[in-house]
Amino acid sequence: MRFEVSKVLDAIEARLTTDPALARGVVDLSEVVRYADLDGGRPASLVRLGLLVDALGRYVAEENVPVYAVAPRGLISDTDLTSNERMVVRRWADDGKIEVVPQLDDRVLEVAELLGLPVLTRDREDHFRDRRPWVTEPGRLLALVSNQGGPALVARVGRGEAAPPVPRSPLGERLLARVWSCPAPNCTSYGSGGDPDSPFADMRTYASPVAQPPPMLRAGAPTCPRHGERLRDVGARPATEVLSVRIDGVIRQRFAVSEEKPVVVGRAPEGGSGIMLGQWLTDDARKWISRGHVQFILRGGEITVQDISTNGSGIRPGNSADDEARITLKRDESRVLGADDVVELYAGVNVGRSALWATGGNVQPESVMGEAPTMAFRPVGR
Ligand SMILES: [Zn+2]
Repeated sequence: MRFEVSKVLDAIEARLTTDPALARGVVDLSEVVRYADLDGGRPASLVRLGLLVDALGRYVAEENVPVYAVAPRGLISDTDLTSNERMVVRRWADDGKIEVVPQLDDRVLEVAELLGLPVLTRDREDHFRDRRPWVTEPGRLLALVSNQGGPALVARVGRGEAAPPVPRSPLGERLLARVWSCPAPNCTSYGSGGDPDSPFADMRTYASPVAQPPPMLRAGAPTCPRHGERLRDVGARPATEVLSVRIDGVIRQRFAVSEEKPVVVGRAPEGGSGIMLGQWLTDDARKWISRGHVQFILRGGEITVQDISTNGSGIRPGNSADDEARITLKRDESRVLGADDVVELYAGVNVGRSALWATGGNVQPESVMGEAPTMAFRPVGR
């Protein structure tokens, strides 16, 4: 594979998730790879997923927007893809980056309904209208079309007015309140990692219980989408809350805080599991903000922010711009975050609940296609 192509696929991979808290749209991977009109190239190309990822970022005007990709198993052996692309699809499937199903049926629509996400498709989904009547509502189906500024997502229904966010379905809420277990060995979505003494135990990545994808319903029973096995309910799922990092008016990244695990945000948190802000900061902000600056803890439905920095931080109650209202947090001090409160690590460097900000504030988010070879791949309209 050409080096540039593999770098693009790596950039795309970083935007793939089946985590219900973070995914922002659902796509049938076998559909988008065939959008040959976008580049006039081969019948199928995995790199086209990058165009869709970019378009979704522009649609919500936000950086680092992840997509939930579902692929029928046949795509792994589809010879319209290069052998390297097939290998990448298989790896994404094995690592749980994408969801692979024996038959697609209406799984993409099911995921969208359970999670309250738009479906990224050119199909009108007419044949599923009886089962999923919401496909005729404005903004639920977004089609990738050629546009002057690069391919764009356009609502299939309505006049392109901004559609309000859709909540998870009641069934989705119920399914996502539980942890599920798949009887198939080494199930990356609903497994626990299997036998820790097995020589293969550490070779796969397993979805953490809080990030398990939504089960598929078959005859009313929660079922593993990949293995078709009936899932077992193994207990309550720890709650999660989604927060956004907003720097100078632009949402850079969303992240989930669960009751299971506090999250550290700072310039470069140690251990690699925190939220690293360094690459987005000005020199002055980099000097002020500690490597690990604040820690978010979710407990009993409340988010507590604890300062762990050298220079301290602040809370802006109700996202107030009034400096008089700003509450200072010194090292080791903590405070429960009100629904509309925003944490300020430095002027213009904020963290708050994602629901606070209706728009990501960036009409031209960074592209995953940055390394795309211009000869092999030419975006329409450039
Ligand atoms: Zn399974």
